[in-house]
Amino acid sequence: MDNIYTAFVDRVETHPNKAAVECDDGTAVTYRDLLEKSQRIASMLATAGVQPGDRVACQVQKSVRAVATYLAVLQIGGVYLPLNTAYTGAELQYFLDDAEPAAVVVDPAAASTVRDMRPTAALFTLDAAGNGTLSASDTRLTAVTPVGPGDPAAILYTSGTTGRSKGAVLTHENLASNCRALLEAWEFTETDRLIHALPIFHIHGLFVAINMSLTSGATLLWMDKFDVDGVVDRFTTATVLMGVPTFYTRLLASDRLTRSATANMRLFVSGSAPLLSADFDAFYDRTGHHILERYGMTETGMNTTNPYRGLRKAGSVGQPLPGVEVRVVEPHSGEALPAGQIGSIEVRGPNVFDRYWRNPEKTHEEKRDTGFFITGDQGFYDTDGYLHISGRSKDMIISGGYNVYPKEIEQLLDEHPAVVESAVIGVPHADLGEGVVAVVVTTNGRLPSEAELNDLLADQLARYKRPRAYRKVEHLPRNVMGKVQKAQLREQFATVLTERP
Ligand code: ATP
Ligand code: MG
Repeated sequence: MDNIYTAFVDRVETHPNKAAVECDDGTAVTYRDLLEKSQRIASMLATAGVQPGDRVACQVQKSVRAVATYLAVLQIGGVYLPLNTAYTGAELQYFLDDAEPAAVVVDPAAASTVRDMRPTAALFTLDAAGNGTLSASDTRLTAVTPVGPGDPAAILYTSGTTGRSKGAVLTHENLASNCRALLEAWEFTETDRLIHALPIFHIHGLFVAINMSLTSGATLLWMDKFDVDGVVDRFTTATVLMGVPTFYTRLLASDRLTRSATANMRLFVSGSAPLLSADFDAFYDRTGHHILERYGMTETGMNTTNPYRGLRKAGSVGQPLPGVEVRVVEPHSGEALPAGQIGSIEVRGPNVFDRYWRNPEKTHEEKRDTGFFITGDQGFYDTDGYLHISGRSKDMIISGGYNVYPKEIEQLLDEHPAVVESAVIGVPHADLGEGVVAVVVTTNGRLPSEAELNDLLADQLARYKRPRAYRKVEHLPRNVMGKVQKAQLREQFATVLTERP
């Protein structure tokens, strides 16, 4: 398989009447239906003059018509640009100005806003059945525009956890190679039934889950959004769940999560943010399944995975996927570091994106001449060759000249029985530059005493790593993918170490 679209069309030929998607309302969309829907949208786009290489933005609620739009854009050789449906106003304007799409596909309610924001783009709305605004939507375009492996297939914006979102230009080969590697690593086949409860404007829900399913002839069990009972209901007929850590935390809160309820399932995957080790253990105790954690990002798709067969380690993101090189280096010299030493994580392979959209400086900064992409994450390999993520370079705290890796402290705090989860941040400190502060969510809303928390850490952490203040919060701020928004916490607690007692 060297192209997602043509691999999908091959599956339509081999499985025309099989359900590509089983929808929330119980209806099914067959492989042939999905192709025909997408061909109608392709016809609509082509009739309006969208050319190969043009960007087509899609801000459509999670739906089969959004998937059909994605396929339509690939069919006409366009560049698919999904946008989070939560974006409004200034955010949306930023993405439209930055990407300058030739066409925009939106839900009817958003049409007038987008028309004002981007008057030069061809604007389309799709009704629930996926029928478009042009009469051409009745016809189907069956011709496929040929593309090369290095041609752009999509621009995907990063989550904006460490700064403004960047548009990553992904080629057809980027998508296809990553899909191949994942199909192989997770032994994914047409017999799989994948519970899809993720958003589809992000690499995980779009290019991991959808590409894998539609190119292998599997079935997507579609959920417009995640809900615990809806997921548990599907366990009896599903085989795979791809989720983010918050899915697992929420599933663990349900009495319905049992060994018998999950007996039909063969694989639970977690990614996009660190999985709590306590959840990994609790999930195994309750269900007998070890959650498979993997690591990736917008710019590279997936990089590493715990093994499908073999030991899955709590707290580790596993080993490089087939064809992907993942190394840990000293950030200044670029020299590879031995097992156990924390350094900068870099990735090379056919999965690595082409460039940041309209940002050659940033592309140059993050892509070494050697072809290695500097991920912005830090971590280490253990002696078994499993990668562990220590945090993001931008979250590393430099306190009095010492490097402090938040994850190490968070893991220890999370062991306290009254601590649900924690986030360790660096905030301004008069003498040290930055001082360590721990923000904690507790089981009973009460913060254990500082003395008690310090005792927990005293044996295990050098003094310079120990928090100088603890603060409690009801919940850690997270985005929809479950990523903790540390920038928000740094702002909220900026003066904790400088204010007078
Ligand atoms: P931005 O680049 O705009 O700051 P972002 O990095 O959060 O945002 P994404 O590409 O959505 O945008 O996320 C990729 C990042 O998510 C990785 O670089 C890593 O920090 C984190 N991540 C993904 N999977 C895992 C995992 N299993 N464990 C820990 N962190 C993970
Ligand atoms: Mg990033």
